[in-house]
Amino acid sequence: MKFAPMKKILNLAEERNVAYGAYVTVSYETALAVIEAGSELDCPVIFITGTDCCDLMGGFEATVDTVKRAAANTKVPIALHLDHCLTYEECVEAINAGYSSVMIDGSALPFEENIKLTKKVVDYAHTLGITVEGELGRLVGEEGRLKEKGPEAAQTDPMEAREFVERTGVDCLAVSIGTQHGHYIAAPHLNIERLKAIREKVNVPLVLHGGSGTPIEQVQEAIRCGIRKINIATDVLTAVADSFDEVKKKPDFKYNTAMFINSKDSAKQLVKKKMKQFRFED
Ligand SMILES: [Zn+2]
Repeated sequence: MKFAPMKKILNLAEERNVAYGAYVTVSYETALAVIEAGSELDCPVIFITGTDCCDLMGGFEATVDTVKRAAANTKVPIALHLDHCLTYEECVEAINAGYSSVMIDGSALPFEENIKLTKKVVDYAHTLGITVEGELGRLVGEEGRLKEKGPEAAQTDPMEAREFVERTGVDCLAVSIGTQHGHYIAAPHLNIERLKAIREKVNVPLVLHGGSGTPIEQVQEAIRCGIRKINIATDVLTAVADSFDEVKKKPDFKYNTAMFINSKDSAKQLVKKKMKQFRFED
């Protein structure tokens, strides 16, 4: 099987006025969970793997192999995307290993340096038909290996977003409009007005990070306003962890491999729910 360029999947989302989830994978069974969900709902699949996920699976090539094995029998398009990569070199390594999409995250850099780094990745990736996601603005709380505080000051500036997209040639743009990574202490409040203003200036699909735990009404409003990819990591990992807790409460519980089948099924149910919500079917 061959991975689909992520750009193709995002263009489909644009045509259909929906968003597609981008789900974390850290193992064969988490990959299988998402692929089974996508196959059953006829929904394209995007995998996001940070370098930490790739390390868990044995590096970029092993990650490519694992996801391909899990995807052997599916007919839905599947993109494999490197999430929050901080260096040009690692983007090149992932692309050469078989990734169909990379995110170069220069959002912690000054504007001009972010443009320079992102354009360098675009110039390499586009000669090979690989999709590139850039990021402008910072998420509140933890962003990869960095910390940032403060509300709207960190959010994406619409005029800067236009200049960034024009000068780098990125295929999609991660924007900061009020979400954060990880678990929320209080429910986030997405800045929909800011999103609309960005949308007016920018003509590539927009990406929402920190999609886990954001109230679905807000997420759906963001989709109506141009969000086409929603990253879901914490929710998948939580479904897996909770399934182990649940199964241990059963009176006939035994430590056996069924625990892992169970965790795969619980991740799959979570993903199916998200897929339906992002297509306004639920
Ligand atoms: Zn992210």
